Amino acid sequence: PLALVNHFLPEAYNLHLTLVATKPNFTGKLVAHFARNSLYVYDEPEPVVLQLHAHNLVITSAVAACDGLTDRAQVTYDKAAQIATLTLPSVFSALPAFNMTLDYIGKTNQIGTYQDPTHGVFKTNYLDSKTGRASNAIIATHTQPVFARTIFPCIDEVNYKQPITLTVTTDARFQVISNTGVRDTVVAADGLTKTVSFKRTPPIATTVFGLVAGDLEYSILPKLFTSVDARPSTLPVRVYTLVGELAAATYALSVAAAVLPKLVEMFQQPYPLDKLDFVALPFLSDGAMENWGCVTVQAQHLLTHDATHKAIRDIVAHELVHQWMGNMVSFDSWGDLWLNEAFATWLGTQVLGTDDTYNWLLRMHEMEALMDHDARPDARSIHQSRCVHSVHTTHDALDPHAYQRGIYALRMLANLMQRGVSDDCSVMMRGVSKFLAANRFKSVKLTDLWTALHPMCGDDVLALMHTATRVPGLPVVHVAVQEDKVVAEQHRFLGDYSAEELDLEDVPYYLPLNVRLHDGSVVNWALSDRKTVLDVRAEDIATFNTNRTGYYRVRYTRALCGPVTQAIACGMLSIADLIALASDCSTYIGWRFQTADDLWMFMSVVNAMAAPDHVLCWSALNIALSSVQELHKSLRQFGGSEVLAAFNRWVADFTDKMHAKINWNTAYDLSDSREVYTDELEARSALMLMGMKSEKYQAVAQGLYKNLVHGPDRSVPRQLLAATIGVTCHTASTTEYNHIVAMIKSAVDVAPHTNASVHEVQTAVLSCMGYAARDELVTATLDFVAAHIDATLIELALVGLQSGGSKAWHRVWDWFVSHYDEW
Ligand SMILES: [Zn+2]
Repeated sequence: PLALVNHFLPEAYNLHLTLVATKPNFTGKLVAHFARNSLYVYDEPEPVVLQLHAHNLVITSAVAACDGLTDRAQVTYDKAAQIATLTLPSVFSALPAFNMTLDYIGKTNQIGTYQDPTHGVFKTNYLDSKTGRASNAIIATHTQPVFARTIFPCIDEVNYKQPITLTVTTDARFQVISNTGVRDTVVAADGLTKTVSFKRTPPIATTVFGLVAGDLEYSILPKLFTSVDARPSTLPVRVYTLVGELAAATYALSVAAAVLPKLVEMFQQPYPLDKLDFVALPFLSDGAMENWGCVTVQAQHLLTHDATHKAIRDIVAHELVHQWMGNMVSFDSWGDLWLNEAFATWLGTQVLGTDDTYNWLLRMHEMEALMDHDARPDARSIHQSRCVHSVHTTHDALDPHAYQRGIYALRMLANLMQRGVSDDCSVMMRGVSKFLAANRFKSVKLTDLWTALHPMCGDDVLALMHTATRVPGLPVVHVAVQEDKVVAEQHRFLGDYSAEELDLEDVPYYLPLNVRLHDGSVVNWALSDRKTVLDVRAEDIATFNTNRTGYYRVRYTRALCGPVTQAIACGMLSIADLIALASDCSTYIGWRFQTADDLWMFMSVVNAMAAPDHVLCWSALNIALSSVQELHKSLRQFGGSEVLAAFNRWVADFTDKMHAKINWNTAYDLSDSREVYTDELEARSALMLMGMKSEKYQAVAQGLYKNLVHGPDRSVPRQLLAATIGVTCHTASTTEYNHIVAMIKSAVDVAPHTNASVHEVQTAVLSCMGYAARDELVTATLDFVAAHIDATLIELALVGLQSGGSKAWHRVWDWFVSHYDEW
């Protein structure tokens, strides 16, 4: 319901704004068509009361007119509520409709730093690189969530949508952009100003009204064809930039060209307006704003000289999705903003997919961090964290946790509806497409969407979205074998706590189990209660939660270990499967409730990765190796010597197999610093440090070390610095050791041979000198620390000593006691 009281409601806004870059104010003339509000009933004629949102606006004249009847309205303001009340004589109450003309003055906010909030109408000056002209100006608007009311008097609520017909008078040299295409431009006789009229918009939420006028250049796509039902249409798509920055717009434009036709096809709906513009602004508080047909983005999030740029790709796709879902059909409450945003990111990730799961793989780290967050006892559900109170900025309305959870809930829903494994969302999109067609230009409730999807998938949609939005936290599915049957049982996962001891409810979630079988098929059983018995033999199971499409963790008992590790070893799991397995199994290592089964399963998974037929997944290997290193560290401190010796034998065997499996390169080409293979390099580094005692890894380290000292330039990745120096130190003679330590002073000479900074080289040397194994070098390291005890980070030099086992630790302790007797 509307918060305002109105006998009549505005049904269309005709807005004329006059923007002068050198003035602190702008002027506006609004002609609004008001029609009787059917919800308001009265018997006798009475004064007509109209309430409009208005903030920092001074109305200088308010005149109502209909069929020769003209009268002034009385204007009063409620500043705190940001409302202007217009009162007309009772004669107007008998009319079905009338026009109201308001003249007013508004404030232009001057923006000079990133701290200045870009609200309402705001202005920036800039010096361009092309002409060196300092008088360039940009005037732009930012209406989300409640700033349209600082631009024109209106009903500024998310659920109230009316068409806007905009006219702008401004400097003749400015580019002027708004939601729709230009109908007409008239330059004044003096040539100094021009008046640009835009086409009438469809019903539009005030939050996605947008206007930019200023010294800008643009690039336009040659010709973009989009087609629904073989009805092709061409759409002008432009990117506007500051003068001189146009060359950096190419990438964003190419992403839009690739994504738009795909979205038209997925939505089965033409792009809803007659043109689409992106405008790169020097300042924008929310980073990017999906104004309908006039998307504004802070320049560094849109412009690049790179040939590819993931963050820009993501933003462009996200904002394009909004043009249909969020703008053409909008949500009628700020409480649903999480879904609007999550949907844009979910579908943006889908549409950018170059293969089934590629873009989701790039999000795996984000998903992992979210799962860690949701394992906390104080984790909230989407429903609990969504905004229900007053909204002053977009930041208030959008809870980042609800938004991220929403992305994975939608992904889980799409896969449930697909009844399949891949990240194909065609079934869900058929439902979304119908939903959009039925609600074109309207505002809807979140539940309307679930209800629309419901018939395509039975009860599952409502059940899944209910627990995904209402139940806090994260489930873990235990997979066990009982009496020859595979049993899946779920509980809330709370890290080192149990729901019982925290007195928290352990509500079952609705979970699609998505089980990959050894024959290659995938079966999507739903777990809707605490526990379910599956009609499958344990030996047929390859993995649960195929492609990690479900938002939950899986924990296997030892009975499943054989079939799962066999699937890893023979290469039948996807990369996403492997990441899920590695990360789930790692979670239970060092866990308070860790069992022998967890350890068994984890070690088996790691072993299977060394199998000759296993296709290596660096991300999964990296996750697993971190836990192996943690395990090794705790065994060194708490394990008995026999256990430690057995583990060391396993490490030697495992690293030996991995050495044979992996191509070991000693010179990299790091000229393209944007290339992402962090996981690979981190995994290689872990293997080198684990395999330090093996001549094979020593040879790898020596090769890298030679390049570090002598070049070529940018040939040693920063992620391998510590392993290179540590392993070289391990077998170093006194001369070599002294040479390595001297690198702390001469780091500036070797830094060009890596992509690391001088400081990173120094830190690597400092934290690796302790790996030197010879007795006299352990003494040398301890002496070095004593001599530089006041130096920053000097304690790092002790790090490597732990690799020497308990003997070295005793030496450190003796040394510590003799030097620092006051302790
Ligand atoms: Zn968005």
